[in-house]
Amino acid sequence: MGQNGHMNDLGTIVCKHCGNVIDTVDTENVVTFYSSCQNDQCKDLNSEVLFNDSDS
Ligand SMILES: [Zn+2]
Repeated sequence: MGQNGHMNDLGTIVCKHCGNVIDTVDTENVVTFYSSCQNDQCKDLNSEVLFNDSDS
């Protein structure tokens, strides 16, 4: 936990489907995490990826 009151949210959580920034997290280095946002479309896409690994 930082105690100098300096926000250091270098980590960014990005929706891997629509590119929306979902959240930021406090990390030591610049890191991008990929997840899926609450969008119904994105959640649906995420399910497709999980259950059907073949793409094109
Ligand atoms: Zn999304």
